[in-house]
Amino acid sequence: MSHVFPRVQRSLPTAVSAEGAWITDAEGTRYLDAAGGAIVVGVGHGDRSLIEAATVQLDKTQYVHGTMFTTEALETYADELAAVLPVPDARIYPVSGGSEAVETAVKLARTYHLAIGQAGRTTVIARRSSYHGNTLGALDLSGKEPLRKPYTPWLGRFLHAPRAYEYRCENPTHPDGCGDWHAAELQRMIESYGPDTIAAFIAEPVAGATLAASVPCDDYWPKIVEVCRRYGVLVIADEVMTGFGRTGRWFGVDQWGITPDILTAGKGTTSGYMPFGFAAASGAIYEAVAPKGFVHGFTWSHNALGAAVALAALRRLRDDGLVDRSRDLGAKIKGDLSAALDDAPTVGDVRGIGMMLGIELVADRPEKAPFPRPEQAAERVLAAAREAGLLLYSSTGHVDGINGDLIMLGPPFTLTDDDTGALVERTVAAIRSIDGPG
Ligand code: PMP
Repeated sequence: MSHVFPRVQRSLPTAVSAEGAWITDAEGTRYLDAAGGAIVVGVGHGDRSLIEAATVQLDKTQYVHGTMFTTEALETYADELAAVLPVPDARIYPVSGGSEAVETAVKLARTYHLAIGQAGRTTVIARRSSYHGNTLGALDLSGKEPLRKPYTPWLGRFLHAPRAYEYRCENPTHPDGCGDWHAAELQRMIESYGPDTIAAFIAEPVAGATLAASVPCDDYWPKIVEVCRRYGVLVIADEVMTGFGRTGRWFGVDQWGITPDILTAGKGTTSGYMPFGFAAASGAIYEAVAPKGFVHGFTWSHNALGAAVALAALRRLRDDGLVDRSRDLGAKIKGDLSAALDDAPTVGDVRGIGMMLGIELVADRPEKAPFPRPEQAAERVLAAAREAGLLLYSSTGHVDGINGDLIMLGPPFTLTDDDTGALVERTVAAIRSIDGPG
């Protein structure tokens, strides 16, 4: 009997090695990592520059506390990172992952408003069908019902605006005027709760884990940011999934030229080699907060090992043109998948940007009707893929809190041409495997 408390109740293969886009288990079976785990691995597995950065740093210092020391790794990382961040005069607060980054961001927003004498601004507006993490604060921001349900008695501090989800857009005049409609909805919420009670608006630039790479309409972000600025509401871009080249730009908001007040990152910071992430605040936020301080911190925040590996990942992306590669290769994969699944009866939508791609499964394509949950459509696709040596990522329940099946792809940007062909072929076969009666 294993003493591990596993994440899933099915027997798992034992991973023993990984290289490029492939993971090998103890039986010698090779899996093509089309999801980069959970849309994490950008530079590929087994990258020597990241591995060496970790060992070099461990040779220097192992643990020093963030209130007692800074390190060369952290200072250099922050400098090189600030040059690519869309946040003006960025200050980086490193943490151990995405949920911690989100917690840090919302506490920082609150601290900022306290510092500028706006103590009444306590509420954060997130969006329905969003994902911001699983710690209680981040979960409360998240709008994914199946994840919230068991913990409902502990949740309810925040507000949720409509999701930016083009395939099932809530704007009655869709596809016309969607940016204006979203901006008006946000404005209505701010006005009805009182502008002086709203601290921040947080959203994923491209909706990820719960809406499988839903790209908002073109004027969504500019119009939302305009409303936030008008009411003194801070803009937090949750770039935990979209960051570090995933969407074919350094950050998701770069697509629209948006400069958030606070930006969160995780996953792609180290391509998953180390648990790491950060909240980046604009210089203006930092200057306001610094005199009285930020009551916050973790044992592993500001850690040098994470920063060293993140620095190596950043240099690999920057110096080897991997962000552009994500943009171009992602467009090719999306085109190939769309063409191959054009007549698939169970595919409602193939979407995404860069190497952040999603496929929405439906029982009835013209009606966009979801599969009834008991049919386990997404689970069956993932099982068929695993059987064929392909790792995909899935999400369920987005349509009404129960039904809805989404498949996500987020492969490493270093995918070879052969890998790309295999990825498309195996993905299409896995999806087509549920074409018949369930
Ligand atoms: N925000 C977003 C947008 C995410 O996609 C995730 C993870 N899927 C998180 C936050 C939480 O990150 P973590 O799992 O590292 O805590």
